[in-house]
Amino acid sequence: MSELLDPFGRRIEYVRLSVTDRCDLRCEYCMPKGFKDFHEPEEWLRFDEIERVIAAFARLGVSRVRLTGGEPLVRRDIHLLAGRLARLPGIDDLSLSTNATRLEKQAKLLHHAGIKRINVSLDTLHADRFKHLTGGKLEKVIAGLMAAKSTGFMPIKLNMVVMRGVNDDEIEDMVEFCIEHDFTLRFIEIMPMGASGRAATDRYLNLQTVRERLAKRYKLIEGMMPGGGPARYVQVAGTELRIGFITPISQHFCQTCNRVRLAVDGTLYLCLGQEDRIELRPLLRNGIDDEGLEATLLDAISRKPERHEFREKPQKVLRFMSMTGG
Ligand code: SAM
Ligand code: SF4
Repeated sequence: MSELLDPFGRRIEYVRLSVTDRCDLRCEYCMPKGFKDFHEPEEWLRFDEIERVIAAFARLGVSRVRLTGGEPLVRRDIHLLAGRLARLPGIDDLSLSTNATRLEKQAKLLHHAGIKRINVSLDTLHADRFKHLTGGKLEKVIAGLMAAKSTGFMPIKLNMVVMRGVNDDEIEDMVEFCIEHDFTLRFIEIMPMGASGRAATDRYLNLQTVRERLAKRYKLIEGMMPGGGPARYVQVAGTELRIGFITPISQHFCQTCNRVRLAVDGTLYLCLGQEDRIELRPLLRNGIDDEGLEATLLDAISRKPERHEFREKPQKVLRFMSMTGG
């Protein structure tokens, strides 16, 4: 088997798969209010096309896939796609990132389909603030989270984008909420993705300050759960809670990057923070065979950029986060 090794010696074994660029929320830093420039349905990769691409990746050594978006649960019959991907030889970890608004209804179907762990985005525990930040209803998210918990997803990770003057007064409340419900908590630094991300960067907060603040209140044990991802974890002593810090801006983690991103229109993005890409949809629709598809993926990975430049060139990435799936 040829391995997907990039020019910097990084082995690519993880695909973030955006199954839609649509969303039922409008988080300010992700998708601007009134945004309508979505892909048309005929531009979406069909389930059989997605399955072909992921199967090709799996033959080249990818073992982990995350469904994301936009909001993945707004794509119809997403549990059917999940089941198909979970059954692919070589794929042994299928996960989901969701805003959880539709999770209450779909949790059991998704779990049954083979998704065993999920990440839920939640920036506030106040209903009025949630409404202001996302346009949605917090109660739906909480209902979705509780359904996920009772269905048995493990772990359930809460992702909180920490914003100065917006929700940084809720850090300790979020810690307590996660201790109570046995969720993992991850804090994320805001990134200048698209115009909406850039407009929100005046709320950027270096997570090092959050860590110092937490250390005053809790005893934090270092070096927990290194995992394959970008988060650096600590454990809160005397509890099961693990807290991850995702610091793309203050401390980038590109040297351990193991992933690429497939957008709903079949664009393969080689880096979250660069525009390097390859369009797979025309190849799929023009009848490329499996061998050709694998060669295309190998070639794409040989062109993966070394790192993002969010700090040096914050104006660089024009697309919104919802287009690539975060
Ligand atoms: N809709 C799903 C959700 O919200 O989890 C999946 C897609 S969303 C684009 C994935 C993640 O990207 C979320 O955790 C969200 O908070 C994060 N995100 C979006 N825009 C961001 C930005 N400008 N900076 C940092 N994180 C961002
Ligand atoms: Fe939707 Fe997720 Fe973007 Fe929020 S972060 S607008 S929930 S895609």
